[in-house]
Amino acid sequence: MALLINDLCVNCDVCAPACPNNAISQGETIYEIAPSHCTECVGHFDTPQCIEVCPVECILLDPAHPESREELMEKYLHLTGAAA
Ligand code: SF4
Ligand code: SF4
Repeated sequence: MALLINDLCVNCDVCAPACPNNAISQGETIYEIAPSHCTECVGHFDTPQCIEVCPVECILLDPAHPESREELMEKYLHLTGAAA
């Protein structure tokens, strides 16, 4: 499942550089996660790095983008160019 930033975001810019997939960017009003690039950090880290660093705990699982761990790993391989 990709992650989602809710409107408690204070635009502190701590999460964007922590994302190994460059999935996070400043949106119109708050920061946003591109679902096509978020692997829940699968392949890179054991835990979602954006959740680890966010000071206001405004990053949650996005129910609109359900994915299994296997699908997240496939996305990781695709994003890193390691897929066959
Ligand atoms: Fe980036 Fe990982 Fe957060 Fe997804 S969970 S947005 S890949 S830091
Ligand atoms: Fe928003 Fe949290 Fe990212 Fe800061 S770390 S920009 S509060 S989502």
